[in-house]
Parts: sequence; C-alpha cells; structure tokens
Amino acid sequence: MRSLVTGGAGFLGSHLCDRLIAEGHEVVALDNLYTGSKQNIAHLLPRSDFTFIQHDIVDPIKLEVDWIFNLACPASPVHYQYNPVKTVKTSVMGALNMLGLAKRIGARIMQASTSEVYGDPLEHPQTESYWGNVNPIGLRSCYDEGKRVAETLMMDYHRQNGVDTRIVRIFNTYGPRMATGDGRVVSNFVVQALGGEKLTVYGDGSQTRSFCFVDDMVDAFVRLMKYESDDAHEPINVGSSDERSMNEVVSCLAEIVGTKLDVEKRPLPSDDPVRRKPDTSRAVSRLGWSARVGFVEGLTKTVDYFRTLK
Ligand code: NAD
Ligand code: UDP
Repeated sequence: MRSLVTGGAGFLGSHLCDRLIAEGHEVVALDNLYTGSKQNIAHLLPRSDFTFIQHDIVDPIKLEVDWIFNLACPASPVHYQYNPVKTVKTSVMGALNMLGLAKRIGARIMQASTSEVYGDPLEHPQTESYWGNVNPIGLRSCYDEGKRVAETLMMDYHRQNGVDTRIVRIFNTYGPRMATGDGRVVSNFVVQALGGEKLTVYGDGSQTRSFCFVDDMVDAFVRLMKYESDDAHEPINVGSSDERSMNEVVSCLAEIVGTKLDVEKRPLPSDDPVRRKPDTSRAVSRLGWSARVGFVEGLTKTVDYFRTLK
C-alpha cells in the first residue's frame, strides 16, 4: 500500500505518517510547511519507504497512490485567520486537486473535516445529522465554510464520479508535536505553565471542549479508511466525549505540573463556540472506535513532550 498524507509535516499528519509506516505502508508526505515543520518528520526522512514533497495543495500534483489523506490546512484560529483567503483556497482548491487526483488514479480519499462545521452548535452533543449554526461572514468562516465546501466536494465527487470518499469530522485533538506558538488552548496552557507564565483564559473559562489524544484520532483515520460499506462515504464524528471547561483544563494541568497556576483573563474571541462535544455513536458502531487515552494520561504525555523542547 502507498499512501499520500497532505499536511504530513503537521501535528496530526506526522503522527499519521508514523502509524502508516508502522502498518507497512509506503508514505508520501506533502506539505508547504506553513504551520508544519520538518522536525516533526525528521525521524522518517532517512527511510526508503518515506518521501517528503514540499508542495502547496492549491496547485495540482500528479502521484500514484492507493490512499489519500487530505489533512493540509492550518487548524488553529491564529493561523487560519492570518491569511483567510489562502485558508479558503487551501480547503476548496486543495480538496478539488486531491479529488481530481483520486478520480484519475482510483484512490480512496479521506477529507479531514472538523467539528467547526457545526459552528456554535444549538444541538448538544453534536450528531452527524445536525447541519450546524455557522456564521458565513465571521472571522472563523474562512475555516468553517472552507471545510463545509470540502465536504460538499467529497459528496459530489462520490455521487457524480463514484470516487471512494471518506469524511472525518475531527473534534479538538491534542498531544506531542502541537506547534508551540499555534495558539490552541492545550499548547498555549502547557507552554505557559512550563514557562512560569500566567495562563491566558479567554472569556470566563466556562466554555467547553472535548479533547481527544492524537493516537486515538489517528487510529480512527485508519479504521475509517479500512471500513468498507455503502455508508462509508458519510461524515463521521471522531473525538472524545470527556467534555471540560477551560477552567477545568487549568485545574487538571496544575495537578500534573504540581504547582499552582495563575490565570490572566483575556477577551473571548468572536464566534467562539460555547459548548462542544461529539456524539460518537456512529464511530463506535461502524468503526468499533472509541477514545482510549484519558485526559490526564494524554495531557501528561503532552507536558512531557513540551518539556523536551525546553
Ligand atoms: P497543523 O497546522 O499542525 O497541520 C496542518 C498542516 O498542513 C501543516 O503541516 C501545514 O504546513 C500544512 N498546510 C497548510 N496549508 C497547506 C497548503 N496550502 N498546502 C500544503 N500544506 C499545507 O494542524 P493539525 O492539527 O495537524 O490539523 C490537520 C488537519 O486536521 C487540518 O485539516 C485541520 O483542519 C484538521 N483538524 C484538526 C483538529 C485538531 O484539533 N488538531 C480539529 C479539527 C480538524
Ligand atoms: N482558549 C483559551 N486560552 C488560550 C487559547 C484558547 O481560553 O490561550 C480557549 C478558546 O477561546 C476556546 C478554547 O480555548 O474557547 C479552545 O480553543 P482552541 O483554539 O484550542 O480550539 P477551537 O476554539 O478551535 O475549538
């Protein structure tokens, strides 16, 4: 088996490359290194079954592979809002290019979608049948709407051209190799805690997320690609059901690092969802998947990783 991982030098992509290599795949990682880093795949670069191509998925590329995992897209609000037009291009033109490739070579393709397709959800927990509550013109729209169009393209290439598609709606995922400065809450808090700084809590810290450890997420990707059924092309939520407020994340981290952590309140960013938690019954019943790594265990591993960077 030969797999292409776009965004392969990023946080999730690099872990996925590791997992595929461990399963005996030949892996091609494609990345423009916008938020990813060669450091994340440095251990794979010398291998003969691993190839890195520096390329922007806004431009077409010709390759021969069996599976395509389309992960390329900045994922943290700071990065996807830096150049929002480019974010839309990456999601939309990237999906078009990868789907065109999949169609031409007969590859199976998985799109990394997001819980953000539900926007600030009015249904809780979120099921795949919920259409969401997304602001089409807000600061997060370049990401949310870009991913929604990517999902539309997946479905249309499937219906119109018979492309063998998969869509995974990824909920907040954390772990080693998150970028230090990428602004997501877990990496921010861990870096601040280890640096003796105050933790920046946005709003009153009561907003919730459900955090999934990276190994569990990558396991779901591979299960979804192996899943063969008439319903395999339907979107599927993957994430943890362990919902926590940002204030609870602070307390949990304080126990792990063993010190009291001071907090500095910052304004809540616009369109920041109030609550988020996946209904994962589809992943459980179709893929036999559920999150295995608990938050304390996963956060401890993440803290250990960031300590090695100091
Ligand atoms: P990341 O920023 O670490 O990885 C994204 C990778 O894509 C980076 O290596 C970046 O350099 C690359 N990239 C960006 N634009 C590109 C372009 N135009 N051409 C080629 N490469 C490009 O983020 P991540 O957390 O690993 O996210 C991976 C995917 O998963 C993204 O599609 C993201 O939207 C999705 N996702 C992640 C989460 C999460 O919590 N981590 C949640 C929902 C969805
Ligand atoms: N957040 C925070 N402090 C930070 C970074 C983020 O309180 O330093 C909050 C943010 O407002 C949001 C939650 O943490 O409510 C998760 O943010 P993140 O950017 O990690 O993910 P997303 O909002 O995309 O789910």
